[in-house]
Amino acid sequence: MQCPKCTHADTKVLDTRLGKNNLSIRRRRQCLGCGYRFTTIEEILREGLVVVKRNGVREEFDRAKMLAGIRRAAEKRPIEAEQIEMMIVEIIDELEREHGSEIPSESIGEHIMRRLKEIDQIAYVRFASVYKDFRDIEELAQEISDLKIVQ
Ligand SMILES: [Zn+2]
Repeated sequence: MQCPKCTHADTKVLDTRLGKNNLSIRRRRQCLGCGYRFTTIEEILREGLVVVKRNGVREEFDRAKMLAGIRRAAEKRPIEAEQIEMMIVEIIDELEREHGSEIPSESIGEHIMRRLKEIDQIAYVRFASVYKDFRDIEELAQEISDLKIVQ
């Protein structure tokens, strides 16, 4: 594995541990060139997952799209990249358990929102404002005041 900092080709594994539900493996690695330490996450590759949109259109599940959406919401928030990676692993697992290989698009959004709500409420509101496509500012204000009640 290439070092993300200096692009040296060799790293050594310092530590390996199982992720939640034993569905992923995290490895702590160190670059043999510059000594930089980073973590990689290995997960079972799901093939053939299909997203069914509200209008019935089916498309291949796109993990990168999911990651980009969460990253955007989490920008400049105290959420670690690893936390987002683990969140995605767990959400995909939950979605597959609930729906099999055909996942309704709204279910993906619901799962992400549920997680973000627990981790960081600003990121949650950001994600929800894009995902739910709030019709007006009052609806968004309502959502925020609901959050306060939950706390
Ligand atoms: Zn390096």
